[in-house]
Amino acid sequence: MRYDVIVVGAGPAGSTTARECARRGLSVLVLDKAEFPRDKPCGGGVTVKAAGQLPFDLGPVTERVVTGVRFSLRGAQPFRRATDAPLVYLTQRRRLDAFLLEQARVAGAMIREGTPVREVLAEPSRVVVRAAGETFVARAVVVADGANSRSARQVGLAGQRWMTVALEGNVSPATGVPEEWHDAFGFDLGWVPGGYGWLFPKGNHVNIGVWGWTHTGPHLRAYLRALTAAYGFDPAALWGVRGHHLPLRQPGAPLARGGALLVGDAAGFVDPFTGEGIGGALWSGRVAAPVLAAYAAGDLDDLTPYTEIVRWEVLPELRVAHQCAELFHLSPRLQVALMRHWRPWWRLFARLARGEQHYSEIRRVLGPLAPAVDLACDFARVTPLVHRYAGPATDLTPRRLLRAGI
Ligand SMILES: Cc1cc2nc3c(=O)[nH]c(=O)nc-3n(C[C@H](O)[C@H](O)[C@H](O)COP(=O)(O)OP(=O)(O)OC[C@H]3O[C@@H](n4cnc5c(N)ncnc54)[C@H](O)[C@@H]3O)c2cc1C
Repeated sequence: MRYDVIVVGAGPAGSTTARECARRGLSVLVLDKAEFPRDKPCGGGVTVKAAGQLPFDLGPVTERVVTGVRFSLRGAQPFRRATDAPLVYLTQRRRLDAFLLEQARVAGAMIREGTPVREVLAEPSRVVVRAAGETFVARAVVVADGANSRSARQVGLAGQRWMTVALEGNVSPATGVPEEWHDAFGFDLGWVPGGYGWLFPKGNHVNIGVWGWTHTGPHLRAYLRALTAAYGFDPAALWGVRGHHLPLRQPGAPLARGGALLVGDAAGFVDPFTGEGIGGALWSGRVAAPVLAAYAAGDLDDLTPYTEIVRWEVLPELRVAHQCAELFHLSPRLQVALMRHWRPWWRLFARLARGEQHYSEIRRVLGPLAPAVDLACDFARVTPLVHRYAGPATDLTPRRLLRAGI
């Protein structure tokens, strides 16, 4: 059988693309090497903004809804900020991904689990996918196999990405999740240069993690232990400790070519400010589907219109999110102080998490001050010492030079 679309990878990006394509009447085959439910290194935090990408609610897999944040600086000086509306839904990826995949199945997508894809060949009028000793043919392929995507390279879409890395683990307190964590998550600054630490309360355990640029990798285990102790738990009680890369898109990295396109982590759609990748995965799957439908119907010659949608809708957001990250991490102490003493700063944070505030609007509000922000970011990028704290430590190109490309 020849499919309209083959989706490689059934994480949030792949299952969303599959669901939205199947809903449009396309024949869709999803291939994943794992058997679901399967786990994945992730905090499992889905912001209200990210959940807004879905046409159904996450109630069946949400273990806790938090409305507040407990901020701290290197585990000390904790204080709380709260709103009266949800900020983040806490899930476990094992449950979330199986749930999202089930929605794709219900919409009509065919799912093949336990089927590792070995090779993807993008030919002029079809794609050929070899997996588990079988060959599948389709008009288009969606590359959704995550941060270390091999299929992206095979279809000629391997672009440069800035790599970040996160390490997470869990603690199951004997008496359940302490009350102070029933409606708030933890956000700690200052330990991980250019990143942060978190505590996400789940149903019967807490998830604690640290995120930073790749060069912080060798130190993440020590940071995780220190953060766990600072939150009042025994680091020796951590279980399921594991890490993974989070890729950030670089300007100009390709997204679509012929009958192939990238979604989710394979495309580097992680928010550089918050480290959130589920939102980008859901968003990219949703906007890719109409382009795939038009291509399958013969109304488009290739999938490059997807690149245009990304360019207009998401790249301006990622660009400002990058700048926020660069400035935010220049002085974690200042950021924590602002969060503690200046309410508008907290309200901005909450509005971003809820999707009520777009990053690009922040830039518009800055008006004539925007070039000064660009300069400050350029300064952070070209000053090695500062850059080591606030940036990826490998790329020293000033932001201004990148603006056209992003
Ligand atoms: C420690 C950590 C904590 C995080 N916490 C959060 C968080 O709290 N909130 C948030 O929004 N984001 C978080 N992220 C980021 C988030 O996990 C990713 O951005 C998100 O999973 C991307 O979804 P995806 O569908 O693109 O890829 P993935 O979820 O990685 O899915 C890729 C799928 O492809 C499959 N696959 C891979 N290779 C093959 C192959 N050859 N053949 C077939 N199938 C294949 C895999 O089995 C997998 O199912 C975190 C990341 C890390 C590392």
